[in-house]
Amino acid sequence: MRSTSMATRKTVTASSSAVLLAMITGCADTAAPGASPTDSSAQTAQGEAPAQWSYEGATGPQHWGELEDEFTTCGTGAAQSPINVPGDPVLSSEPIELDYTASDFQARDTGHTVELESTSPQNITVDGTEYTFKQMHYHAPSEHTLDGVNYAAEFHFVHQSDDGDLAVIGVLAAEGEDNPAWSLVIEAVPAAQDEDSAEVTGLALSSLLPESLDHYEYDGSLTTPPCSENVRWLLLQSPIELGTTQISELRSAHSDNNRPTQPLNDREVAQVDQ
Ligand SMILES: [Zn+2]
Repeated sequence: MRSTSMATRKTVTASSSAVLLAMITGCADTAAPGASPTDSSAQTAQGEAPAQWSYEGATGPQHWGELEDEFTTCGTGAAQSPINVPGDPVLSSEPIELDYTASDFQARDTGHTVELESTSPQNITVDGTEYTFKQMHYHAPSEHTLDGVNYAAEFHFVHQSDDGDLAVIGVLAAEGEDNPAWSLVIEAVPAAQDEDSAEVTGLALSSLLPESLDHYEYDGSLTTPPCSENVRWLLLQSPIELGTTQISELRSAHSDNNRPTQPLNDREVAQVDQ
């Protein structure tokens, strides 16, 4: 497990306290009612501790499939994520329709990442199927690679349909100019570590996305145990930019929490221009 020791904690500045109303929860492992599929979905059954998995050594990605019966797919699955998106994707499909509105969010440190859950319903529609937003979290560096290239970070906007299928919008982040649109999210990361959870107010998810929603689409899996293969991946083609300090804030909380790319096998990656 990655340590969330005191050493990595940061003091929330006066300006960020104004927008982050820290809230203490009783127990960090308590799943919310109707818990979403999350990076902490390794929790096996009510009352049991989450299985121990990590990004290195004996509990690292190469061994996830052996750690728990429920994790077998991590080792045996043939449609796993992330992948390297090859340079020549050929198919096309439906656009992503966003139905995001400004909302308040709860930020929570799962031990592997920090994730934000919305307090009001947010939806997307892809190819006639509506998916409800569950949570957004990050990996640093990126998990997907584009033609072999890694990015500084990758954000996953996780959605679920009524049938239980997942659609994840992946947003790659390159190191560059400071990005004010992301400041509320970045400030929530150390706050969530310090206080178990933190509130982000008045954030529209659409403001976090690049202008173009052109994306690569393929069928894959969760990139964390149990690695379930019911994920429609929508990886946006245009990376966003984050400043050096913003990237550092993310990495201070969780870094190297990226699963290595998995074999594409006989899957095809569609490039969707919209
Ligand atoms: Zn993820």
